Amino acid sequence: MRDIITLACTECKQRNYTTTKNKKTTPEKLELKKYCRFCRTHTSHKETK
Ligand SMILES: [Zn+2]
Repeated sequence: MRDIITLACTECKQRNYTTTKNKKTTPEKLELKKYCRFCRTHTSHKETK
């Protein structure tokens, strides 16, 4: 069972991406480097609810 999660920029807090993950195999919060169009650069994006 994979759950849809939202990734939010850690700089501007905008929610830029959605992805899926398996909470059973990945219980920790996801953090990915992704392009933020609000910051206009690559920033860390963290999982939010
Ligand atoms: Zn941003």
